Amino acid sequence: MKIAVYPGSFDPVTNGHLDIIARGAKVFDEVIVVVLVNVDKKGLFKIDERVELIKRVTKDYPNVKVQSFNGLLVDFMRQKKATVILKGLRAVSDFEYEFQMALMNNKLDPEVETLFMMTNAEYSYLSSSAVKQVAKFGGCIRGLVPDEIIVDIISRIKGE
Ligand code: ADP
Repeated sequence: MKIAVYPGSFDPVTNGHLDIIARGAKVFDEVIVVVLVNVDKKGLFKIDERVELIKRVTKDYPNVKVQSFNGLLVDFMRQKKATVILKGLRAVSDFEYEFQMALMNNKLDPEVETLFMMTNAEYSYLSSSAVKQVAKFGGCIRGLVPDEIIVDIISRIKGE
């Protein structure tokens, strides 16, 4: 069974992420979306909340699982017996960072391969931080994130 792990902060999950998840689910037997804990970053949503939001928007994909992990991605991969890291690439600006991460992960565990999927052109400008900025100033986020989580984002930003 070919398992791919799709790591990120997903604060919150966007339609760009969901597009990669849906396409990944067609290529791999199983995709595990993993919300990685980043101690340096305080997010809009807590880790468990991000997991719940991703679960909600991926409920129709039987071969997608959602989890969180606090530690090195390669250690999570070993636990899951997964050897493929799935990543999305939006622009040249993503490249340098992703290139570095891919080489580092391969150095930490030579069994691990990172595979990149090009973003859907429609979502190439989309990031979680852009969604948060737009929502903060009252802009419309419909089409940027799944409809089922719009209310959660807006009420969290308003501090409710
Ligand atoms: P961000 O906070 O930048 O939205 P994450 O750290 O949660 O992103 O990203 C997880 C992964 O999803 C990364 O591989 C990132 O390149 C990818 N990704 C994020 N947004 C998009 C998008 N719009 N299209 C394709 N891939 C994306």
